[in-house]
Amino acid sequence: MSIADNINKVREQIAGAAARIGRKSDEITLVAVSKQKPIEMIEAAYMAGVRHFGENRSSELAEKAHALAHLDGIHWHFIGQLQTRQSLPVAKHSHAFHAVDRLKIARRLSRQLVELNRTLPVYIEVNVSGEASKSGFDCGVWEQDNEQRKRLVAAMLEIAALPQLEVQGLMTMAPFTATETVIRPIFQRTHQLAEWLRTSTPTLALPHISMGMTNDFEIAIEEGATHVRVGRAIFGARAY
Ligand SMILES: *Cc1c(COP(=O)(O)O)cnc(C)c1O
Repeated sequence: MSIADNINKVREQIAGAAARIGRKSDEITLVAVSKQKPIEMIEAAYMAGVRHFGENRSSELAEKAHALAHLDGIHWHFIGQLQTRQSLPVAKHSHAFHAVDRLKIARRLSRQLVELNRTLPVYIEVNVSGEASKSGFDCGVWEQDNEQRKRLVAAMLEIAALPQLEVQGLMTMAPFTATETVIRPIFQRTHQLAEWLRTSTPTLALPHISMGMTNDFEIAIEEGATHVRVGRAIFGARAY
């Protein structure tokens, strides 16, 4: 199957999942995760109508953004963990950052964006599964733990107040090998956390939720994702 075929299939799956919960598929943004994949594949996806691409290494993002600067309306999403010392290319080239997992990286990006005179939509990464290996603000027991909720709200208010950052909503990842019975509640609880934040802290505008990858994007849409980050289903398996 060609990349265009893969994209059509993913788009059908997105439409199907959206229809099941009475949403329109144009409310859902497909971010095609092109990490480790060559420029030619990104061009093929662009030709098939994709405008949003996800990368997780800042040097690779900078190279690709530079090489493909002629493609009108291309949007780069930085989706991975970002080391503080590698933040400048993300501040310069990305159109959205999905993985604000600590205050330090938000402060750093904000300072760089001020200098660059750019704004950057950002997502706060929440670790709802409680897995120790996962990054993101610890929200493993947010429903029971008032302190956990308070820490999250305090961090989010501080991030929202930083110049040039525009908080869009939450981002999460489900355990990679898990089954639907594990994955679905994680997405549900992330959606519920976003709802709780909207009501408890109305100053935080949180219209979006970034969740769902190749293995689980249909479940994520059924549970309220607005942005899905799909790599392998479009570009094939990766080397690592
Ligand atoms: C690699 C990656 C994806 C895409 O994963 P696939 O399984 O290839 O769809 C999505 N989100 C993040 C944060 C990633 O690192």
